[in-house]
Amino acid sequence: MTEEQKAGSETGEAIRKRPTLGAHIERLWDHNADTRSLFLRLPHGARIAFLPGQFISVVIPLPGEKRVRPYSIASDPETPELLEICFNRVPSGSGAAWLFERRAGDELEFTGPFGMFTLERPPGDESVFLAASTAIAPIRPMVRRALASPNAQRLTLLYAAPDSEHLLYHAELERMAGESSGRLHFETFTTGAADPMGLLCDEARRRWVDGTGTRSRHFYICGVGSQVIALRSLLRGAGYERGAVHYEKW
Ligand SMILES: Cc1cc2nc3c(=O)[nH]c(=O)nc-3n(C[C@H](O)[C@H](O)[C@H](O)COP(=O)(O)OP(=O)(O)OC[C@H]3O[C@@H](n4cnc5c(N)ncnc54)[C@H](O)[C@@H]3O)c2cc1C
Repeated sequence: MTEEQKAGSETGEAIRKRPTLGAHIERLWDHNADTRSLFLRLPHGARIAFLPGQFISVVIPLPGEKRVRPYSIASDPETPELLEICFNRVPSGSGAAWLFERRAGDELEFTGPFGMFTLERPPGDESVFLAASTAIAPIRPMVRRALASPNAQRLTLLYAAPDSEHLLYHAELERMAGESSGRLHFETFTTGAADPMGLLCDEARRRWVDGTGTRSRHFYICGVGSQVIALRSLLRGAGYERGAVHYEKW
């Protein structure tokens, strides 16, 4: 999906003309040895409006290269004065490595928000959220928004990671499920060396392809790599409407 498609009806030219914003890194939080959140505050009380699931494009000035990488906004639109992004180290990923070198008090430049992988209001049908490791970042505000809506149908969140340390926001998500009067069903999986997205594909096939004839659910899928596309194709191929299978591949 192109940047233009992601930003909806905006033209590519309008997107390029979006102003670059500067934010102050107010604090950072290490979820584990290789996953970190940065909390970004815009100057002079400025705030940006965004939808749950959207991302910002962070300017990463590497030697000899001005790199731009998207990072999902992990915090809620209801608290726009402090944006949270959450990221992990990537093998040979010099953009992510640069972000890990930032310290509280540093400035960060970005444009945005962008993205069509959003949940503004929950659909009238059941919503199923499937997230792997750090890719819980855009799903977290989506689930919160869906839970805050009085007319949300059943919500299911399956969250997979190699080990329990990489199940981010675990206690918070469990609390949300516990306080949801049964509206949010939350399950976690640890996969060891196996790909968490592979496990989510298997679970989706078992539960919502082979296990039922109903095709009225909406899916929100986020993770790294080709298994995200495989899962999207599996669900659409099984008869779910194209527009009901929302996904973002990192
Ligand atoms: C819409 C969108 C939103 C994103 N939001 C986030 C986010 O919230 N947090 C985040 O950590 N990353 C996110 N990413 C990925 C991020 O933009 C970068 O690609 C990543 O940080 C690696 O950048 P790099 O320049 O270090 O390495 P690159 O050289 O650009 O990437 C090297 C490889 O790493 C893979 N990769 C990308 N992201 C990850 C990851 N998180 N873990 C392991 N491998 C990865 C890529 O598929 C690529 O093949 C997002 C990507 C997209 C498209």
